[in-house]
Amino acid sequence: LARLRARLVKSNNALGKGLLALLSRDKIDEDVWDEIEETLLLADLGTEPTTELVDALRDRVKIAGSQDPDEVKQMLREELIKLVDPGMDRSLAVQRHADRPAVVLVVGVNGVGKTTTVGKLARVLVAEDKDVLLGAADTFRAAAAEQLATWGQRVGVPTVKSDIDGADPASVAFEAVKAGIDQEVDVVMVDTAGRLQNKVGLMDELGKVKRVIEKLATVDEVLLVLDATTGQNGLNQAKVFSEVVNITGIVLTKLDGTAKGGIVVAIQRSLGVPVKLVGLGEGPDDLAPFEAESFVDALLN
Ligand code: GDP
Repeated sequence: LARLRARLVKSNNALGKGLLALLSRDKIDEDVWDEIEETLLLADLGTEPTTELVDALRDRVKIAGSQDPDEVKQMLREELIKLVDPGMDRSLAVQRHADRPAVVLVVGVNGVGKTTTVGKLARVLVAEDKDVLLGAADTFRAAAAEQLATWGQRVGVPTVKSDIDGADPASVAFEAVKAGIDQEVDVVMVDTAGRLQNKVGLMDELGKVKRVIEKLATVDEVLLVLDATTGQNGLNQAKVFSEVVNITGIVLTKLDGTAKGGIVVAIQRSLGVPVKLVGLGEGPDDLAPFEAESFVDALLN
């Protein structure tokens, strides 16, 4: 975790450095407040949260009657934590039910890191002594099922996939959950395809995948995977997906490659759903639970 934190610190340095330099000015005047606002906007915090934060901070600085950089930095840290963590439950619903596995559906646009996330999360669950089975319902992209099966092998869990190119994703999802029930595993994770270009098609496909799974089990967790480097675009994707399925958590990938960590706040606000996991690299260990405090510390370090 320390290593992951270090990487997050590195990628977010630009924001932290910028803010701290601003707070360390001799006097925090209107121009400096404007610059602070701009810096936060550039980090994709979103207009509303940025305004809220700057207003709250400005009030606190006024009341404190001190512009001591360390004190202001501490206030900024507290205000950021309030924004990032409005008291959301970030636990994953991955406990087996009495008679059937927990089912996790993983959705998102192609290329955001869905398959990689399924692989990494499988590894985390296996490390927690859980029996995991993967379902390769991304039958649209030819290599996706192979890629998932490779992750399965790497992590040591079975993958249910179809040998037919372009097979019906819902039928693969069904087979995976059925196999998970038969094999009495703890968690079945189903990887899906995400073609956002065709919203109606997406709705039909994802809706069907979910309905078919629900013939056998309940879908306990629907994780939407978003690429942190795409900023506002990710927000739009999130809105489309949330119209199709009931999203229970966000996985924000590629946080290692961006200083735009503020998107966490924007996404949680617009969807009312917590960021539960973050992707910090391409390797099998580069997935971490999202923690507001360490995230903010990384932003500010
Ligand atoms: P999918 O189409 O959504 O299933 O996306 P993939 O899982 O195939 O990932 C697309 C690319 O993003 C691959 O090259 C991954 O290695 C890479 N990737 C996934 N997650 C992360 C991450 O957290 N950080 C970085 N830097 N790359 C990632």
